[in-house]
Amino acid sequence: MIDVPAISVQRTATIRDALLKLDQAAFGMLLVLEPDGTFERTVTDGDIRRLLLQGCGMDDSLKRLPKIKSFVLEDGYTQESALALMNKCVINHLPVIDAQRRVIKVLDRKELDEKILLSTPHMGSWEREFVDEAFKTNWIAPLGPNVDAFEREVAEYVGIDHAAALTSGTAAIHLALIMLGVRAGDTVFCSSLTFAASANPIAYQGAEPVFIDSEPESWNMSPVALENAFQYAIANGKKPKAVIVVNLYGQSADIDSIADICKRYDVPIVEDAAESLGARYKGKASGSFGVMGVYSFNGNKIITTSGGGMLVSDNEEFIRQARFLSTQARDPALHYEHTQIGYNYRMSNILAGVGRGQIRVLNERVASRRRVNERYREGLLGCEQLTWMPEPEWSYSTHWLTACTVTSTKSGLNSLDIIKKLAGDHIEARPVWKPMHMQPVFRQCRSFNHGDHSVSQTLFEDGICLPSGSNMTDAQQDRIIDAIKKIVAES
Ligand SMILES: *Cc1c(COP(=O)(O)O)cnc(C)c1O
Repeated sequence: MIDVPAISVQRTATIRDALLKLDQAAFGMLLVLEPDGTFERTVTDGDIRRLLLQGCGMDDSLKRLPKIKSFVLEDGYTQESALALMNKCVINHLPVIDAQRRVIKVLDRKELDEKILLSTPHMGSWEREFVDEAFKTNWIAPLGPNVDAFEREVAEYVGIDHAAALTSGTAAIHLALIMLGVRAGDTVFCSSLTFAASANPIAYQGAEPVFIDSEPESWNMSPVALENAFQYAIANGKKPKAVIVVNLYGQSADIDSIADICKRYDVPIVEDAAESLGARYKGKASGSFGVMGVYSFNGNKIITTSGGGMLVSDNEEFIRQARFLSTQARDPALHYEHTQIGYNYRMSNILAGVGRGQIRVLNERVASRRRVNERYREGLLGCEQLTWMPEPEWSYSTHWLTACTVTSTKSGLNSLDIIKKLAGDHIEARPVWKPMHMQPVFRQCRSFNHGDHSVSQTLFEDGICLPSGSNMTDAQQDRIIDAIKKIVAES
């Protein structure tokens, strides 16, 4: 932030004073104020140079500066309108004045240009060492020591016996379904409130997804809706082959209640923990509850390999099979022999090196994201229209994304208005996932609600995800908090 008094002068100041101030502020511009403190015009290095060339001395005052009308912004501007004016006038700084023409602040193009994104990669200090090691040993391909080590390290972190490093979380879900025997004509239950990658692999297998609503307590799979879905399935003689339980935005689903139901119907759980690596349910790692668990290292996730995923299981056979299927299903033979359809889903040794660096800072990343969540809640305490995604007492969420819902204000301000206004301030906020049962591509699929209406639909309609990166600075977050306060206050 630019210190306004440090760059303010009056016309009584000498050229020497003005040059000293310009020199100290190292900003290239001063504000000329009227005797009553209101804004008159700006003055630059160039303006002073011209005064000197006109014959003024160092001890002459600024009285001979011509009267001009400098460009200013009035309070209530957006980042976009400010940038547009700067571009139009080809300037890099703009004073912002209040109704009394007093300068509140001066905008700097460098700060305005900065976009705050939802969740960006955050590298630590180890990644390059592991990647360099791969280069030094020319272990670029095939599979190698980084892959083996990364699998061990993730398995150890989450307390699961075995892990297979893959090209993506989606690939991990796909292989899990293949190994559970999901094929054309089968059904698979899946959380509705999720990213499409949770459900797409069901379709890859030619099977039918059945979507299960959220419960309000955790925003994750509703045990009530799940029970209803099972009863319908049994009554119609078609038990699902698997249940994909998604852990949303870094928070585990209520796994015990869900697992009880699945156990009763004897159907295996695949835990989609793509968004919840580092989270815990009743003290145990998220992703470790199903017969198989899935993590993602996509660029926006809490740790990233730029793209990648991991399938984990206590069942060694599943993981052995996943490694086999993900490397084109090559049978042991000197020539190339295949008895099954295979896939090219294995993680490279280079990317696994990035992952090894990232897993070392995972706990720090979790702490940072939790802190971001805490700062939002504190900073926006007065905004009663916002209701934060709850964190039940059994949950230790990573708050991969901080999410809230907006109760429409009297003036009708809703979540989309806030998202659009934040975009005007170069802040990327997003709606909550659009539930799968509302997606055109899945419109023919059956879905089950938590109660008499769809909780996930309401969360989508009212929900916002705020920028939550572990590398976001306090100043950036304060900018977001101020912007939201302003939007809500003006509504
Ligand atoms: C990101 C994500 C995936 C897919 O992971 P990729 O590594 O991008 O394939 C699956 N499910 C959920 C809930 C996700 O957020």
